Amino acid sequence: MANTECHIGIIGAGLGGLAAAIGIARSGHKVTIIEQAPVLGEVGAGIQIPPNSSRILKEWGILKEIEDLSVRPQNCILRRYRDGKKLSNLNLVPLVEEQYQHPYLHIHRADYHRVLVEEAERLGVKIQLDSIVEKIDFNKPKVYIKNKPDFEADLLIGADGLKSVCREALLGRADPPYLTGDLAYRITVSAEDMRKDPILKELAEQPNINIWMGPDAHAVCYLLKGGGLYNIVLICPDNLPELVSQAKADLKEMHDFFEHWDPQLRQLLRLCKETSKWRVQNSREMSSWSHPSGKFVLMGDACHATQPYLAQGAAMAVEDGAVLGALLERIKGKHQIPDLLVVYETIRKPRTTKVVQGSNHFGRTVFHLKDGARQQERDRQLLEHNDKPFEGYPNRWADPVFQEFLFGYNAFTEAEKAWQKYEEGTFPGTAGKYLAKL
Ligand SMILES: Cc1cc2nc3c(=O)[nH]c(=O)nc-3n(C[C@H](O)[C@H](O)[C@H](O)COP(=O)(O)OP(=O)(O)OC[C@H]3O[C@@H](n4cnc5c(N)ncnc54)[C@H](O)[C@@H]3O)c2cc1C
Repeated sequence: MANTECHIGIIGAGLGGLAAAIGIARSGHKVTIIEQAPVLGEVGAGIQIPPNSSRILKEWGILKEIEDLSVRPQNCILRRYRDGKKLSNLNLVPLVEEQYQHPYLHIHRADYHRVLVEEAERLGVKIQLDSIVEKIDFNKPKVYIKNKPDFEADLLIGADGLKSVCREALLGRADPPYLTGDLAYRITVSAEDMRKDPILKELAEQPNINIWMGPDAHAVCYLLKGGGLYNIVLICPDNLPELVSQAKADLKEMHDFFEHWDPQLRQLLRLCKETSKWRVQNSREMSSWSHPSGKFVLMGDACHATQPYLAQGAAMAVEDGAVLGALLERIKGKHQIPDLLVVYETIRKPRTTKVVQGSNHFGRTVFHLKDGARQQERDRQLLEHNDKPFEGYPNRWADPVFQEFLFGYNAFTEAEKAWQKYEEGTFPGTAGKYLAKL
């Protein structure tokens, strides 16, 4: 527990903002979340929770509840798009789970969000809904809310997602997300219907992550809701009209795109009754996430949105929240907040940048290869080294070095190590020993 209670304001009650609220409230501070939505909830369907995230949920005492609502995939399988041939199989249970001591899970976003909201509220976090932040005074710090009274706190955290008002205010200019050239169909179908179909039965009965990789596109599929739902994400080239970021999709167009793909995947898509397509957008790396006043910082998609190919975007936001909470637990007074923001950004930014770049690279140079020499070499490496993957192995989750970097990260230990350095006066960029001792 921190020695002094500060009031921390978080803008945005997405998965990231809620995680920060939990981490910070646990460290003994007062937390208020300002959220634009009139009611709480999450859109979309499935989300993967990797071990670097489940480690945090365990520490916070909510892993059991999350696990009860999740499916535990046994294997992560990369397949060839034309015939579904298995090219790489990463064993998650028992291997990855034993190695990292925490599970890999699949959960419905709405369930994940609800558990975080309930835990935040149990810890006394106030969530102020229907409050659109329009402007920020970074020096006070204070937010101006549309048609509502202003809100002031000791520290403000911008967790308002990819289309972040906070990021634009910090940059002092418009910074709309850029188009990545991809879009995502997000679909759920009944796993019960799949079990009745001899071609699909196996997919519904084995809780695996199945990924079909093809030219300019890939499909990610897994079970949800106690095995009752099957989640499908199709990433394809973006053909949405300009200025449209989401639209109801034409099923014929979707079927036509996958016409030459594995018959099992095509059979699966026939169960889809309707779907929408979302533009996959991103933002550019920022030079800094915090304001020179030392009273404002960004987190989550607001400052390091990533393409979804490594399934690590929300996990990065949850890590941010855990690090902020663990650092705030250690401060001796409000005067240390500016240094704390330096420590937070210094330990978090290189990691999130590596994930953003790694995800982009995974999509372009592994998942989406067109048929040809590079694809043949990818497939050869995947197949020949499946049992003993090497550093640089195309299945990035199975690459032993990258995997350790992704799944082995312990947000609490990193925060503790960094703060210790700060207290010793050796953390670069901070006022160091003098302020730490005050
Ligand atoms: C297809 C797809 C699949 C994905 N799969 C995975 C996965 O498997 N695993 C994973 O870890 N990640 C995944 N991600 C990424 C993940 O969804 C995001 O990284 C994560 O949700 C970001 O959380 P956030 O809290 O930072 O932002 P958001 O979830 O965008 O939350 C921002 C919040 O701020 C609020 N807000 C916005 N503006 C204002 C304002 N002006 N005033 C007040 N409130 C405001 C919003 O209403 C919202 O509640 C996926 C993403 C996509 C697109």
